[in-house]
Amino acid sequence: MTTADQYAVFGHPVSHSKSPRIHRFFAEQTGQILEYGKQDVPAEQFVETTRLFFQQSGKGLNCTVPLKELAWQFADQLTERARFAKAVNTLKLLDSGQILGDNTDGVGLVTDLTHNAGVTLTGKRLLILGAGGATRGIIAPLFQKQPVQITIANRTLAKAEALVEEFAELGQLTSSSYPQLAGLEFDLILNATSASLSAELPPLPDNILAEQGICYDLAYGNLPTPFVNWGKANHAAKSLDGLGMLVEQAAEAFYLWRGIRPPTAELIRQFDKERA
Ligand code: NDP
Repeated sequence: MTTADQYAVFGHPVSHSKSPRIHRFFAEQTGQILEYGKQDVPAEQFVETTRLFFQQSGKGLNCTVPLKELAWQFADQLTERARFAKAVNTLKLLDSGQILGDNTDGVGLVTDLTHNAGVTLTGKRLLILGAGGATRGIIAPLFQKQPVQITIANRTLAKAEALVEEFAELGQLTSSSYPQLAGLEFDLILNATSASLSAELPPLPDNILAEQGICYDLAYGNLPTPFVNWGKANHAAKSLDGLGMLVEQAAEAFYLWRGIRPPTAELIRQFDKERA
């Protein structure tokens, strides 16, 4: 009996994850035969559970909070973007038996911004709020689109400073505290803090969004996040959340695993309609 290739998302918690639905939709749309499950895996059980998964016919895994750094350590090989990010959200079993680690979050964000939302990044002044794992994953893919500068603002300034030091070779990158942002202006503000998850807003000064500026919250929910609402109140030309990024990072993982690029627009529309 041949069994379908097995894929899954590991996280802790993971019950809320939309990944099984996304990947089953992609499989249907592209005629791929696979199964995709989800498993709650606390950090301390990650290595053992992941080894077992790949020994028992697992072909690929997505890893979410708090496992991305552990997945980065677990991988035998890394893509260049995963090496930069020091975080892995996609693992793939290679023909050699080795495990490849990739990070598709950044490319998912850039695809959603540029392709789905029609936002131009070239020559723009970008502000990233937060200096955690998500920020690590998006700096290099954003610089590939040649913005004129990227500023990273964080509550704990030392973390933003450390990222600037680490990624300095990629382009014009500076760090800032929140109060130091006063008087500056940005064309695109990306919220990569986890503040939205507790219905909070980073302490942003007024008037830092340029005319026709764009706001993008990497977080998403059934209701507009506080930062999406901040963008609207500050007259953003668009104020978006990370639902499209979620679907696009999954599409990139699916492509890595199956070699086929799945369609995303219909699924993003479906998700959007369900929360309307
Ligand atoms: P981390 O825990 O690694 O980092 C959290 C960051 O948020 C830190 O910089 C922290 O600052 C900051 N922060 C937390 N609370 C506040 C607050 N109230 N005010 C200001 N800053 C705050 O999280 P991740 O980087 O992994 O994730 C960040 C966000 O990105 C999450 O909302 C996550 O859901 C989203 N995400 C979305 C994806 C998608 O596909 N749409 C993919 C990946 C992430 P400090 O350092 O001072 O503690």
